[in-house]
Amino acid sequence: MKKYGFGVDIGGTTCKIGLFETTGQLVEKWEIPTNTCEEGKNILPDIAASLHSKMEERKIGREEIVGIGIGLPGPVQPDGSVSLCVNLGWKNMNIPNEMKALLPEIPVKVGNDANVAALGEMWQGGGKGCKSLVMVTLGTGVGGGIIIDEKIVAGTHGAGGEIGHITVNPHESISCNCGRKGCLEQYCSATGIVRLTKERLAKEHETSLLDSAEKISTKVVFDAYKEGDKLAGEIVDKFAQILGRTLSNIACVTDPEVFVIGGGVSKAGEVLTQVLEKEFQEVAFPSCMDTRFALASLGNDAGIYGCVRLVLE
Ligand SMILES: [Zn+2]
Repeated sequence: MKKYGFGVDIGGTTCKIGLFETTGQLVEKWEIPTNTCEEGKNILPDIAASLHSKMEERKIGREEIVGIGIGLPGPVQPDGSVSLCVNLGWKNMNIPNEMKALLPEIPVKVGNDANVAALGEMWQGGGKGCKSLVMVTLGTGVGGGIIIDEKIVAGTHGAGGEIGHITVNPHESISCNCGRKGCLEQYCSATGIVRLTKERLAKEHETSLLDSAEKISTKVVFDAYKEGDKLAGEIVDKFAQILGRTLSNIACVTDPEVFVIGGGVSKAGEVLTQVLEKEFQEVAFPSCMDTRFALASLGNDAGIYGCVRLVLE
């Protein structure tokens, strides 16, 4: 009987691995280093060895494993192949075929890390019980994942869900990491919020709690906002306006049940979903007005949950 599944979330420095029951119960999780030397040729063998030893340790047979789901930081083709994954050093590799040679008889599915995180949040996290959601990850950049009818929308080029690179300001002079100008993540990522705050603090302003902050972070900004600080309020309002309005446009295309907000910035808590929901409703298409906002709840484990959900399809 197929009782277990493995989720493997490959990052540039570590691979997070989870052993799950097919019911969604996490049995055990651990990490191994990602060895990116020699074009990352050891990454999959290292993972296979780790899974193999875990199966021996727990006396789990291959026939009990429904599959191995793998998430990785780059675009993935529908057949599980990757043409280029800069962070891992991979070029033109078919991951299911490679894994089949290492661990025969166990099915393998592969997805982009942001997309599988969204799937994980749908399955067991902030979007539990929903079939369609858009996940927004506010970290160093702005990531996204779109799930419609329980399926990842990866798109033709794997760029489906790259909401951080929606143009929100055509007049921006500074370039985004992607080479374009005026992308959402230039304003609404943690990096963007800190930049906007520092720029504002450098201009004339009333005394602010942020003047005495040792280091400007999104947490400091949201904490000051909760205290009623005027300058922090300006920043949070601007952030919420840009992101809330962008999400209202995304709702016109994807019409999700819920927007799940994750990443470091989401540590601000309920206040974040409240300000976004308010701005969203200011401009939302009438049919989308009751779209919910929820905080992501799986943190860094969203990826391994989503990877396992991939092999349950
Ligand atoms: Zn960009």
